Amino acid sequence: MTKALYMNDSYLKEWTAKVISVKDDKYIGLDKTAFYPKGGGQPWDEGFIIKNGQKFKVIYVGKFSGQISHEVDKPGLSEGGEVSCKLDWKRRYTFMRYHTACHLISNVLYTRADAKITGNQIEMDKTRMDFSMKDYSPEKLKAYVDEANNIIKNDLPISVDYMSREEVLQNPEVARLAKGLPDVKEFRIVKIGEIDKQVDGGTYINHLKEISKIEVIKTVNKGKNNRRMYFILKE
Ligand SMILES: [Zn+2]
Repeated sequence: MTKALYMNDSYLKEWTAKVISVKDDKYIGLDKTAFYPKGGGQPWDEGFIIKNGQKFKVIYVGKFSGQISHEVDKPGLSEGGEVSCKLDWKRRYTFMRYHTACHLISNVLYTRADAKITGNQIEMDKTRMDFSMKDYSPEKLKAYVDEANNIIKNDLPISVDYMSREEVLQNPEVARLAKGLPDVKEFRIVKIGEIDKQVDGGTYINHLKEISKIEVIKTVNKGKNNRRMYFILKE
């Protein structure tokens, strides 16, 4: 089983690990990893696995039957060997900023307009968010995004906590983004100050102000109450 280091520390960029499996010369299993596997609208991490000075580029990371698999660009890694690992930090940090922004927007839309997020996809240069909102208007959306930007300006810390299954079931609003609860006893909760708590497995920035500013670049009408928006983050 791979220890997912990104669950407790989103800022870990370099670490050493042991190769625990190699499949078809290119799918690598590690005993511990900070490479985030594609999931929850957040893309996979890239970077390098390095052995004896030789660099293997990590081109895809996925989770298959609960196991994290790292696809590398060339053969040469073998089971049992010690390796050092390094994230493409620019890529990951961009995703951390966008992911945290998604949670903040979701919080504002949910608490002010009872709107629900139905899907999201983070990319390097923009993020797409689908939501359902009654009485939608471009002016209302603008007011909610302005409010999110004000919260960012005032800044809040982001922290990780854990909750039992019973606690999560008693507080269903903490799992509003999750599509059904996985069969585990303990859940990782990501908190934005005291305003938002969500069951989540993604990576986060430590302070809201690292988002800088959310700017909606496009909205699309997807039928009755459904809207799609694309936003970017200002540097
Ligand atoms: Zn999330």
